[in-house]
Amino acid sequence: MDKNLLNRAKKLMEQMSVTQDNYECEKCRDLGYVFVMEDKYEVAKPCDCFAKKQAFEKLSKCSLSDAFKKKNFKNYDCNYQWQVKAKHQVLKFCSDFSNSNSSLILIGKPGTGKTHLGIAAMLKLLDGNITCKYVEYNNMIVSIKQSIIDEKNHMREMEKYLNSRVIFIDDFLNGKTTEEDINYIYRIINTRYLQQKPMIISTEKSLDEIIDFDEVVGSRIVEMAGENVIYFDENSENHRLRNFTKNY
Ligand SMILES: [Zn+2]
Repeated sequence: MDKNLLNRAKKLMEQMSVTQDNYECEKCRDLGYVFVMEDKYEVAKPCDCFAKKQAFEKLSKCSLSDAFKKKNFKNYDCNYQWQVKAKHQVLKFCSDFSNSNSSLILIGKPGTGKTHLGIAAMLKLLDGNITCKYVEYNNMIVSIKQSIIDEKNHMREMEKYLNSRVIFIDDFLNGKTTEEDINYIYRIINTRYLQQKPMIISTEKSLDEIIDFDEVVGSRIVEMAGENVIYFDENSENHRLRNFTKNY
């Protein structure tokens, strides 16, 4: 085990350390490494629990609130046919991801569960060691604008949206969009497009509206998503699967 990894393990374990005599892992006493004899020398080896802690670290870096971290496929409401369909499509997106490197677009009105399935997809990808970051569109735009006073700060802010292997932009194009906003959005989408870094995008806008908004941005997004465009359309197949009650 090299020094860097050892230091990292130490740091990780310190961050998560519980009370002194109540160890989460008895084997390594929450150090993240154990000492074993190798050729008469005592060497540090990562403990079995280290991978678990790494997964935890990844999850804490993805910018999801605790409430959001609970949104998985299992607890996604499937009362309607269109919800079942949406869930299956998103699951398929996840299972194809390592080959397709595709983006995902979730289109629908507020309250239809787009965000829930977007997060469920994110958590699934994180499980497979793919780094994902969550960002709410309006917060992103505000944070970028606030950062422009200081060049270094601005670069750091932009990197947040450019660097992550996958980014989930929630509520894309929500609210009023200014010319200035378009420049930032263009830079983010275009850079990610050129670097083949996928996105999960949830939006109330239709694909036509996204393309009308900006042809280059729109067409890049559509191209990156391919067939992974999912409509949360409660009107298309509006019959309940369970708890069906007749109101007429
Ligand atoms: Zn351990």
